[in-house]
Amino acid sequence: MTQALASHYPVVIVGGGQAGLSMSAQLRARGIGHIVFEKNRIGHAWREQRWDAFCLVTPNWQCKLPGYPYAGDDRHGFMLKDEIVSYLEGFAKYVDAPVREGVAVTRVSRGDSRGFVVETSIGSVTAGAVVLAISAYHVPNIPRVAERIAPATTQIHSSRYRNAAQLPEGEVLVIGSGQSGCQIAEDLHLAGRKVHLVTGSAPRCPRFYRGRDAVDWLDDLGQYDLPVDEHPKKEGVRKQANHYLTGRDGGRDIDLRQFAREGMSLYGRLQDVRDGKLILADNLAQNLDAADAVYNGICGLIDQHIAKSGIDAPAGAHYTPVWQPQQVPTELDPVSAGIAAIVWATGFRSDWSFVDLPIFDGTGYPTHRRGVTQMPGLFVLGLPWLYTWGSGRFVGVGRDAEYLSDRIVELVRAGNIQTARAKVAV
Ligand SMILES: Cc1cc2nc3c(=O)[nH]c(=O)nc-3n(C[C@H](O)[C@H](O)[C@H](O)COP(=O)(O)OP(=O)(O)OC[C@H]3O[C@@H](n4cnc5c(N)ncnc54)[C@H](O)[C@@H]3O)c2cc1C
Repeated sequence: MTQALASHYPVVIVGGGQAGLSMSAQLRARGIGHIVFEKNRIGHAWREQRWDAFCLVTPNWQCKLPGYPYAGDDRHGFMLKDEIVSYLEGFAKYVDAPVREGVAVTRVSRGDSRGFVVETSIGSVTAGAVVLAISAYHVPNIPRVAERIAPATTQIHSSRYRNAAQLPEGEVLVIGSGQSGCQIAEDLHLAGRKVHLVTGSAPRCPRFYRGRDAVDWLDDLGQYDLPVDEHPKKEGVRKQANHYLTGRDGGRDIDLRQFAREGMSLYGRLQDVRDGKLILADNLAQNLDAADAVYNGICGLIDQHIAKSGIDAPAGAHYTPVWQPQQVPTELDPVSAGIAAIVWATGFRSDWSFVDLPIFDGTGYPTHRRGVTQMPGLFVLGLPWLYTWGSGRFVGVGRDAEYLSDRIVELVRAGNIQTARAKVAV
């Protein structure tokens, strides 16, 4: 039987994904009472917002949640969607996380001396500290120009895409060439659909180079330990699109030029929709060249590392374009092109509207340093580049949770969080 909520918790964690569960693990290890509110189910994003053939892009060995590293026999493989959910469920059990599933936090506001008031769908509690572990991917982002596309064309967001069979028969237009857009375009292409892909400025990364996964080399190079403050783009990197590559079928590059050779139609960036037609920038060549330059830059970094460290590694070839765009259309009428469906792979917007506290910047995004906001006792966790590249991913969230738990211990020691009511009711 579900127990009633206590009136006060030393710490309330909002979100029961890998970030919230990692925080729970670290707090439990420090004996700090807490509760996790999860408005859906553990692993909701992986269960409900990914396509059927989805698999990790990052290798399994990077799944190192606190005390619960990937323990399967395919460390260099890429877990499928259901395996990711099982991994998370196993982690929740291992942590014995006090999670209340199906409970939405509807408002977080300032309380009296007891810290914060956390209103939920089943009642209010107070908390000495609050950790917002809800990622940054809240509202599927479909630009409103979509409203000017004729209703005959089915339109969905990438988070609703499951497989080719779900879409009406006909050609499919994917808008966005980030990680999701490229993988969904590939999924449709492999299913035999004629695909049109509107590209953007996302970079690409080799999957394997000089005998290893590029991620393994980049790990040796310390790339995943680089703090955001030391990144050349500083906090600007948080808004950068992810590199495209895939873990599908054991992992491979995604090469849009090769797709074009096989019949996929590629275009430049979407600029507008006029009279039902997509108006596209004449920048496909630029987008492809820029993505390849990043790819080859990564190869170059690895080459330097190998040479400098005297590592005996097999030779590797930098990428040479296998196709060049010629006379790319700058207008596309979905109806006359026979496009039956559009998949918007244009990311997500954040919605922090339930947080009634002054911690946001002009764009409504929380300001913080390594997850510590300007409001004592209020923390964010699991955001892209919160601290390092891995912060919004499996590989780095545990380290960030450890750091925030230590900050919470400091607040407890300073008497700013009451632990006397540390009993956790679940
Ligand atoms: C398409 C895609 C592919 C990715 N691929 C990889 C990959 O290959 N490798 C990798 O390491 N990372 C990957 N990531 C990044 C990251 O691992 C995932 O986004 C992951 O889901 C983030 O975990 P999280 O716990 O931070 O957030 P989430 O998994 O989003 O969990 C947050 C939870 O908070 C809950 N919640 C939200 N609001 C409230 C509220 N008000 N009250 C209560 N609960 C609330 C939600 O229901 C949700 O379950 C990918 C992300 C995306 C979008």
